[in-house]
Amino acid sequence: PKVLLTGGSGFIATHILELLLKNGHEVVTTVRTEEKAKIIRDAHPGAKLSVVIVPDIAQPNAFDEVVQTPGLEYVQHTASPFHFKFKDPKTEILDPAIKGTTSILEAIKKYAPGVKRVVITSSFAAILSADKLGDASKTWSEADWNPNTYEDGITGPPGTTYRVSKTLAEKAAWDFKEKEKPNFDIATINPPFVFGPVVHHLSSLADINTSNGNMVALIVGRWKAEIPPTGVHLWVDVRDVAKAHVAAMERPEAGGNRFFVTTGLFANKEIVPIVRKHFPQIADKLPEDGVQGGDYPGGSVDNVYKYDNSKATKVLGIDWIPFEQSIVDTIGSVLKVGAK
Ligand code: NDP
Repeated sequence: PKVLLTGGSGFIATHILELLLKNGHEVVTTVRTEEKAKIIRDAHPGAKLSVVIVPDIAQPNAFDEVVQTPGLEYVQHTASPFHFKFKDPKTEILDPAIKGTTSILEAIKKYAPGVKRVVITSSFAAILSADKLGDASKTWSEADWNPNTYEDGITGPPGTTYRVSKTLAEKAAWDFKEKEKPNFDIATINPPFVFGPVVHHLSSLADINTSNGNMVALIVGRWKAEIPPTGVHLWVDVRDVAKAHVAAMERPEAGGNRFFVTTGLFANKEIVPIVRKHFPQIADKLPEDGVQGGDYPGGSVDNVYKYDNSKATKVLGIDWIPFEQSIVDTIGSVLKVGAK
């Protein structure tokens, strides 16, 4: 089957692309620039792959042309801004996330009647309520929705803007399915903090994706004096996120569902001993024993919220990659980029 993958240059999308090709799918992927297109083409010589430029996903008709690729059966929509370096929340974050999602769904309905399913990369950001992040009795699952409004996204801090962008983009997708009744069904993948190896071709550590930014800070010595606060205590490995996207496409029973894909809880301070054990060559960059920070609230995992990943485990068949392996593979890959 032929699959359209948006945002093929991204950290997560790179893993989805590799898995799609490995599973024998033909892939059409979109990126913003010819430079990125070339990197992807060069990384996959001889693959059943074409790379198309879509410069601005916030434009209403951005995807009209690419969805007319003959024979498309599935779409994986991952492209969405994930960074906090913006000046204007509307044009730089909210519009590409929300309008990008509605414009691709409209284009598919109009021009690609053969598409059976659209898998959308949503986020734990669309699940969590900021005011319950201190509640140890809370169990997060697919039943939860972030209550933040568009207005919060415009007036709030950058983290809120990002969370609103993911929430309203996902809501727009489910609303589209309900109101427009297209031929295709939808599944969303909602990961929390994503770690894992960077396989895309970064030219320098400065270009690292947002969720691995802390790993770079660690290996260059910025955790030495104090381990940064953990923020969200839930994580997942990027290879499991990619598996979830592909399984949500390949398994008929996955349609119509959102999937909370998380392996479990972590705190930043748990990363340090793993890195010390496996990477003695950077021991001088690491915080020494006794350095504070990056802990669970009150120093115990019992004080943090719980999670229910049973639906993704069962329906998508994910056998979650453990924390130590994920950290070792992440740090190993980031060190390789740093050595370039
Ligand atoms: P990346 O920043 O590596 O990927 C983001 C992708 O979206 C890139 O391909 C980027 O293109 C593209 N993109 C961003 N803004 C635009 C825009 N305005 N127009 C066109 N394309 C754009 O991060 P991730 O791989 O982590 O993110 C991929 C998806 O996963 C996003 O939807 C994100 O919200 C979601 N997600 C990520 C989590 C994480 O912890 N990493 C957790 C939960 C969800 P370019 O390369 O040109 O910048």
